[in-house]
Amino acid sequence: MYALVDANSFYASCEQIFRPELRDKPVIVLSNNDGCIVARSRAAKALNIPDLQPYFKIKSLLAKHQVHVFSSNYELYADLSSRVVAVLEEFTPQLEVYSIDESFLSLDGFSVDWRDYGLQIKQRLWRDIRMPVCVGMGQTKTLAKLANHIAKKSAKLQGVCILETVDDWHAVFKKLPVNKVWGVGARLAKRLHRLDIYSVYDLKIANAKHIRRQFGVTLERTVAELNGERCMNVDTQPGHKKQIYSTRSFGQKIQQLSDLQQAISQYASTAAVKLRKQKSVVKTIVVFIQTSRFIDDAYSNTITIALPYPTNNSCTIIAAAKQGVAQLYRPGLAYAKAGIGLVELDDAGSTQLNFFNHYQSAKSLKLMAVVDQLNHQQQQIFFASSGIDPFWQMQRQMKSPSYTTSLQQIPVIKIT
Ligand SMILES: [Mg+2]
Repeated sequence: MYALVDANSFYASCEQIFRPELRDKPVIVLSNNDGCIVARSRAAKALNIPDLQPYFKIKSLLAKHQVHVFSSNYELYADLSSRVVAVLEEFTPQLEVYSIDESFLSLDGFSVDWRDYGLQIKQRLWRDIRMPVCVGMGQTKTLAKLANHIAKKSAKLQGVCILETVDDWHAVFKKLPVNKVWGVGARLAKRLHRLDIYSVYDLKIANAKHIRRQFGVTLERTVAELNGERCMNVDTQPGHKKQIYSTRSFGQKIQQLSDLQQAISQYASTAAVKLRKQKSVVKTIVVFIQTSRFIDDAYSNTITIALPYPTNNSCTIIAAAKQGVAQLYRPGLAYAKAGIGLVELDDAGSTQLNFFNHYQSAKSLKLMAVVDQLNHQQQQIFFASSGIDPFWQMQRQMKSPSYTTSLQQIPVIKIT
């Protein structure tokens, strides 16, 4: 049996953990630079606060309903996500972290009451972290996903849905639109409609060969998985990223080259930390800068840079990225966004030395290890090229404290 554990309105729920007085209140979380709504608590959904709306457009609606608004606090969400995973690991050693708020659990070989086990998972996460989740179970990942969706929609199920004997669920599947199936988006759903496939049930009983001919092998597998035939396994060791990107829109437009270089330094050092974490080195990077796309003289450009040798050293990567930006820069424009991609990666262990024997020195490897160690819990040192408190930094005016990752911001409990 597979289970999918998915947090309810994850970002909003994270904010409610340390603000218990907000737990049944409408809460929303905004995207980078306080742009759009990206999460809504249950109470906010009940008020029909629309998802993915630009914040400035519905400010007055939010004020009218006294909605509590938060900027995104990714440090907090990432930390709470890893705490959730740590609890889930006590329920099974076979686990795939699928996204920041979703994990697949393999329960193969377990002899437990599934519903009871699902409720235990849910209760433990609430007791230990105050994180509300739903649990879906099925023989396949596709069924576990679907079960989770049903658990979220049906109050009767108390957040746990088990799709064990799939045929018993046909009545429910007939009522669920086909785009609720994992991997079937709005566009694919439209094409399926032309074949009179409207519901999950219609897709489940569709002719697999027919589906393969018209839509390819991926959807054929989905049909098989809906019928309980496993085509995808819980992947406990997802492969390393083949490319690492760090890109961001600025809080305010940038005009000076030196400011652009500060920004790219910061993104480059973020990407380099990820690179070292997965024990890779980089051979080629890309750098891009762009103005707003909505102005008359919109400009965007990308440059590819081969590094002198494969490296994980932040200084080398930052230096190359800064040079790249200098080549892309056109004066007199207002830049809105920049980014770096580490696009050609290698395992740190298996790097080929090149003909002239240029390679990263042992000293440089050691230096990076020390930097990462110092910054492990929270940032202690950083590259001066990234600037100190620069004006273009992301705007997050309504950000909650870093309750769990900064000693200065740890919650204080007063006992009187
Ligand atoms: Mg979720």
